[in-house]
Amino acid sequence: MWEESVGVPCVIDCPLGPALLFVKTSQGKEEGRRFYACSACRDRKDCNFFQWEDEKVSETRLAAREEYNRNHQPPFTHRQNVERYKNFVLLPLSKKVLEFHQWLLPAEWEKHSDHQFLCDISSAQLKSPSQLLYPLENKKTNAQYLFADRSCQFLLDLITGLGFRRVLSVGTPRLHEMIQSKASQEDFRVRSLLLDIDFRYSQFYTEDEFCHYNMFNHYFFGGEAARETCRKFLYQDSGERVIMVTDPPFGGLVEALASSFKKLMAMWKDTEKEGHNNQEMPVFWIFPYFFESRILEFFPSFSMMDYQVDYDNHALYKHGKTGRRQSPVRIFTNLTPSMIVLPVEEGYRFCTICQRYVSSGNQHCEICNSCTSKDGRRWKHCVLCKKCVKPSWFHCKNCNCCALQNHTCEKTDAVCFVCGKAGHKRSTCPSLSHTRTACQADKKERQKTLKRVKMGICKRSAMKHAVFSRKKVKNKKKKT
Ligand code: SAH
Ligand code: ZN
Ligand code: ZN
Ligand code: ZN
Ligand code: ZN
Repeated sequence: MWEESVGVPCVIDCPLGPALLFVKTSQGKEEGRRFYACSACRDRKDCNFFQWEDEKVSETRLAAREEYNRNHQPPFTHRQNVERYKNFVLLPLSKKVLEFHQWLLPAEWEKHSDHQFLCDISSAQLKSPSQLLYPLENKKTNAQYLFADRSCQFLLDLITGLGFRRVLSVGTPRLHEMIQSKASQEDFRVRSLLLDIDFRYSQFYTEDEFCHYNMFNHYFFGGEAARETCRKFLYQDSGERVIMVTDPPFGGLVEALASSFKKLMAMWKDTEKEGHNNQEMPVFWIFPYFFESRILEFFPSFSMMDYQVDYDNHALYKHGKTGRRQSPVRIFTNLTPSMIVLPVEEGYRFCTICQRYVSSGNQHCEICNSCTSKDGRRWKHCVLCKKCVKPSWFHCKNCNCCALQNHTCEKTDAVCFVCGKAGHKRSTCPSLSHTRTACQADKKERQKTLKRVKMGICKRSAMKHAVFSRKKVKNKKKKT
């Protein structure tokens, strides 16, 4: 049984805005049953919203749902938080207290005396909320993976080098705060607006600097006023060029994200005064390389850069392995690839034929006429597959394609779950659209590999884990 997003936000609300339509499919059935669920929380524990598409909902359940939504609102509004912050910064150091997620003003201390606090919060710390706030790591959906300094600085230099003066930071609080803290110094003219689902940022930023936003259903929690703030920000007066930078959670649904980003891009286009000459709003979408085909499906004008985006563990966590690990995370952009200059001191070089910077291990293949490596390692060309493949793969005559040496051949006598014919498995069923198959591959990889890579566990052990759990699944199937 697996679930897929149909990608349409509907009119039914959960605390995180309009719910999304999903489809539950079980083996052997073409048509799945459709249902609405929270757009942002994959885990029913975090948001219990669930409704079959064809289900009639009773008055009592509607009332209960409204109550649930009311009870799941933040304790203060953005406006109130801004006011509280003004009072907070005036307090002497010893009285600057943060309780997990929220400022405590002296009058509130008593009430919260049995909770954990962080005291003596310095002004430097106040400028770095992403480090100060307790990470929402426990929640699958809100997982916060912060850019390593090197990567964040690289992104900012790249953005300013390209002449952008405004950054729409969608789910990139670290980049936002780097821009904010530089903007308080002289001679730095870049501005940033943060759109993020983490409402705690409203305790640090005004309504002109932060909008509480859900990028899975393009929902502005602050309503029309917040939408207007965003629209104004995108409006390029005096030639201040805008770029959108986004780093969504990888467990996210690509189609839902793409649909929201298209709406933000349309918002930019609508502000057109000088005429964008049919251009698109420049975008950096930061995402793992194995989502390439999915992203290009929605944004054919995008291409993937070789730059490996690195992450830090949160300050509250111990650092994992030292030394550089290979990050699978890349930048997807609609800007001309040759303009994206990658650091030569990190081994990137310019391929004059491909007209883009590539990683040091990425060799130009004469047959494919392209630098074909996706993961930074040197790939090899397979004449039978007519394409370059991972260095660890070999051509399997059974499967008629390249695969890992110890793979289980796809050609089996068993029948396919989807079409019922013999000779292949569900994953390679010709009756399935490319999209769907890719999506399943995405799911497997992202669940098994990514979290661990981002958490600082090296890729090889993550891969082992992936193989291991896949085997486990297979054994289970045999038994049943
Ligand atoms: N690397 C980035 C952080 C990426 S982590 C940086 O260092 O700036 C993903 C971010 O997306 C987090 O800030 C998280 O709060 C935000 N996020 C998660 N789900 C979201 C959603 N549904 N809508 C908007 N933002 C979301
Ligand atoms: Zn090349
Ligand atoms: Zn090749
Ligand atoms: Zn091959
Ligand atoms: Zn095989």
